[in-house]
Parts: sequence; structure tokens; C-alpha cells
Amino acid sequence: MDKILVTRSSMPPMEEYIEEIKSLWESHWLTNMGEKHKELEEKLQQYLKVQHVSLFSNGHMALELGLQAMDLGEGEVITTPFTFASTTHAIVRNGLKPVFCDIREDDYTLDAAKIKERITERTKAIVPVHVYGNVCQVEEIEKIAREYGLKVLYDAAHAFGESYKGSGIGTFGDASMFSFHATKVYHTVEGGAVCYRDEAYGLKLFRLKNFGIRNEETVDGVGANAKMNEFSAAMGICNLRHIDEEIAKRKKVVERYRSHLKDVPGIQLNTVRGEVDSNYAYFPVVIDETIFGATRDTISSALSAEGIFSRKYFYPLTSTFACYQGQFDVAETPVALRISNRVLTLPLYADLSMEAVDRICGIILRSGQK
Ligand SMILES: *Cc1c(COP(=O)(O)O)cnc(C)c1O
Repeated sequence: MDKILVTRSSMPPMEEYIEEIKSLWESHWLTNMGEKHKELEEKLQQYLKVQHVSLFSNGHMALELGLQAMDLGEGEVITTPFTFASTTHAIVRNGLKPVFCDIREDDYTLDAAKIKERITERTKAIVPVHVYGNVCQVEEIEKIAREYGLKVLYDAAHAFGESYKGSGIGTFGDASMFSFHATKVYHTVEGGAVCYRDEAYGLKLFRLKNFGIRNEETVDGVGANAKMNEFSAAMGICNLRHIDEEIAKRKKVVERYRSHLKDVPGIQLNTVRGEVDSNYAYFPVVIDETIFGATRDTISSALSAEGIFSRKYFYPLTSTFACYQGQFDVAETPVALRISNRVLTLPLYADLSMEAVDRICGIILRSGQK
């Protein structure tokens, strides 16, 4: 049997990509906001239903510079520990202090009801994560941000192409970051973007991704190099042509998983809130060992023994990383801790076969009966 990995990058037909990059051999313009870059920004702006898109070399730099462009100075940022390393690192690398707030039991996003108790005079911003593509409590978060004068930068790395109540997911907060990493629903091999409304903010972002250069003789920002190159942009243009089809296929895979696992005692499935057009980015299951009869780790081992690779995602919590040792108290986010210790993300990609899903579910269900 072939191995089944947790994800598998979508790729356009090779001929389509070759056709797309041919013009680069004519222009010899390979990076620094070329034609492909411009075209992709315009296409994404339409597809994502947002006002402005700024492309980046990857999602992390988009998040880090997206935060830097907010000019927050020193202070605290309220965020979730139930996320990828990037979210927390982006805050710390900006010289800001993450203040961890707990998550919701059912969709694992930041619990808006617990944000206020984490606010101090030093709080500058909120960085929530649309984890697994689950939409955060955007209305509640906006209300709090307005009341306390806080900036909001969403980590929307998992939420490409989603809408909430008909609005593009990238329209919420002051800005949103998307990742176009090869493992994401939509990718440019490596890549990312920040979506925003405020043009002055956009100009700052634009300069920060190009060394802080204002013009030939003036460098007035401490920038980085985070530009997207033309080959990545070309991949993005091709992948965007197929994205709706990819999401439709993912939906079928998710429905198959749900049909097997939906009423199994001790297995909690991901809750998607109403009025969300989902992108079916991930399929996390949360295992309650006392009811199901096997732990998350037992299931993970049973799957890998059969050449099937799931992922403990997100485990461990970012607040417990070795690089942050002694800085945060994990007891302050008990829900995040509990979910993180019990969650397993199952293989999911557009071309995963129904037979594979059946097999995976069979192994999971049998491990609970042992
Ligand atoms: C993938 C991811 C990122 C980082 O994106 P890259 O493009 O890999 O740099 C940030 N946050 C979350 C939640 C992610 O899943």
C-alpha cells in the first residue's frame, strides 16, 4: 500500500505552468513586483473580495511585517497559544509580548468572552487565528477592539477563500494574513499576503517588504526582504484557476470523514459556524480517551503502522515551546491545553480517495475497540 501523508500539494497541469512562465524568458524580469506579481495581486483581490492585497515571500513574513507596519511600539498583544509557531514568533520578533487568551471548546478559535480580562494599559493589539479555517468571533472581537482602541491583525493562514456572511474573510479587522505555503489549500509554493483597507498602511507594508526603501536615495524604514518572485506568482495564477474545483473535492473528502465519525462517542468533530463558506482546510478530531477507549497518540501510532500519517496539530501549545520556557503559565489557557493534548489532524487533500478515507476511519474505529 502507498503511504498516505497528512497533505499533498495541489499542482496545475505542468503544461499550464510552463505556458504561464514562458514570458519570463522574454522579459528576464524575475522578481521585484513584476507582471505576474501585479496580475496575481489583482486576481486575488477579486477572488478574496478584499480592497487591497500585498504579496509576500511567505505567510510568516506577511504576518511579521503586517504587525510591524502597525507601528505599535512596545506593549502586549492578545493572542492564542493554539496555533502554528509563526503566530507567536511574529509577535515576539516585533519586540511585543504575547498575552495568551483561551480558546473555544467547539471551534478552537480565540474565546472573545475571555479577551477583556486579558487587557491591560499595555495592550496594543489582538492577533486571533482562524484556526483550521474556522471563523473567529469577528463581530465580538471588533467590538472589543473598538472599545479599547486596539488593532486587530488576523492570522488567516488557514482561511483562504472563505466568506463569512457573504464578506471575504480578509475584510475583518485592520488586516489579515494569508499563507500560500505548499501545504495550504491554495499555494504559490512559498508565499503569503496581507489584505487591508488603509492605503497609508499599505504603503508602509510595501516598503517594509523591500528593505524599507522609499526611493533611490531614501531608506526610512527598518525593512526586510519579503518580496514574492515571479515564478511563485505564476504558480499562484495557475492554482487560482483550479481553486474552486479543489475546494469542492476537499468538501467530498470531509463529508466522507463526517459520515463515518459523526456519531462516535468520544470523538469530537470540528464545528463550523453558520454563515461560513468553508474551504475544508483541515479535518481535526479531538479524542476523549475515557469515552472512546484509545488516546490520540494510540490512534496516531495505529495509523502510522499502516503507512498513514496524521499530525498532532496543534501540539504542543506555542506558549510551552522551549524558546519561551518559564515565560507563560499554561494553566491560564486550560481549554487550549486540553484540546492540544487530544487533537489529531487527519489526512486531507483534494485527491484523497474515498477508499482511503474509509480505510483511515476503519483503523481509527478499531483502535477504540481494543
Ligand atoms: C502556515 C501558517 C503560518 C505561516 O505561513 P508560511 O507561509 O508557512 O510562512 C502562520 N500561521 C498559521 C496558522 C499557519 O498555519
